[in-house]
Amino acid sequence: MNVHEFQAKSLFAQFGVSVPKGKEVKTPLQAEKWARELNSPVFVVKAQIHAGGRGKAGGVKITKNQADVPGLVKELIGKTLVTHQTGPKGRKVRRLLIEEGAGIAKELYLSLLVDRDTGWPVVIASTEGGMEIEEVAAHTPEKIIKELIDPAVGFQSYNGHNVAFALGLNTIEPAVINPFVQMLGNLYKLFMDKNAAMVEINPLVITTDKKLIALDGKVSFDDNSLYKHPDVQAMRDLNEEEPLEIEATASNLNYVKLDGNIGCMVNGAGLAMATMDVIKLAGSEPANFLDVGGGATKETVAAGFRILLKDKNVKGIFINIFGGIVRCERIAHGVIEAAKEVKITVPLVVRLQGTNAKDGRKLLKDSGLKLEVADDLWEAAQKIVGMTGKKRSKPAAAAGGH
Ligand code: GDP
Ligand code: MN
Repeated sequence: MNVHEFQAKSLFAQFGVSVPKGKEVKTPLQAEKWARELNSPVFVVKAQIHAGGRGKAGGVKITKNQADVPGLVKELIGKTLVTHQTGPKGRKVRRLLIEEGAGIAKELYLSLLVDRDTGWPVVIASTEGGMEIEEVAAHTPEKIIKELIDPAVGFQSYNGHNVAFALGLNTIEPAVINPFVQMLGNLYKLFMDKNAAMVEINPLVITTDKKLIALDGKVSFDDNSLYKHPDVQAMRDLNEEEPLEIEATASNLNYVKLDGNIGCMVNGAGLAMATMDVIKLAGSEPANFLDVGGGATKETVAAGFRILLKDKNVKGIFINIFGGIVRCERIAHGVIEAAKEVKITVPLVVRLQGTNAKDGRKLLKDSGLKLEVADDLWEAAQKIVGMTGKKRSKPAAAAGGH
């Protein structure tokens, strides 16, 4: 789960990481009131969307004139921002952050995430703050600093000193070395205490009066630990999330919307990935990833159908179930019952394999429903692609061996 910049900054403040004085506003009137109260020489008006790159897209406005603030809010609110992270559709601005401006002497990059190789938290830092870090990593990898933190020991001040000196803070501004080490320790505490998946500050700035301030903030959380953090859950902004994904989460389904036209309903994440691969191999594209889980029931199958059919791009449905824990005849019953409840308007291919697969297939064949039954994965994928039309003229690779 992601949160807005203003929410990330409120967490930073809680954990002792300095942020500019600011407040979230939703209307020009609120903006006028807050700007008067803030009474700063410089005001920054920032669009709050779950995507970076707002600066370049015109989502960050700076003014010295307090009277201009409500007008800037009026200009941004309701506007659709297209940044390199939003995709071509962009994101509508509904909330804004108004904060005091900072005099910037140097912009740094700083983040904490989990290193895939070691499974340890890792600090990523760079002197190239304010830029897209992916670009820095691609073109000047030597400017990316990494410091692993042993989670059994926790953050130590030497970790902070290692990063500070690798950044060259001793030559850039020695006065910020100790505050930097302390800030990094606080950020580590936030990362661990709140079960964050990533904490990013870009830019972290050294101000002209030698202070260290988080000018931007991004925090994403591990969904599996949200139950422990009601304060974080309260930050959820459903406007920023895919509606079908919200519905799927409510039904305990693991669903990710994709751009193709074959809806997939599969049990198990690994089989779901393999199913997507085989659809591509057969010359089409999956409309989604959907794992109904090991204990799929009539209800989960029905919820899955409903979600798949709400996606206008879905031109056919492919159900691929391996009966391991779950028995195939129960899935077949589930499909039959669900098909009575939810009107299925597109071609449907069901492949059952594993425990009681034969019984399951027979039930489906005898059900009188309009569907195709298959037992072989490759055959099933070719069937559904044949019924919905190939998207690619050439298959991704030869499909030999079957
Ligand atoms: P992003 O583009 O979505 O990552 O948004 P940021 O919050 O990083 O803002 C983009 C840029 O706006 C920053 O890199 C800064 O250069 C600039 N900016 C943001 N806040 C201030 C401020 O208080 N003072 C000044 N001078 N520039 C700012
Ligand atoms: Mn930024």
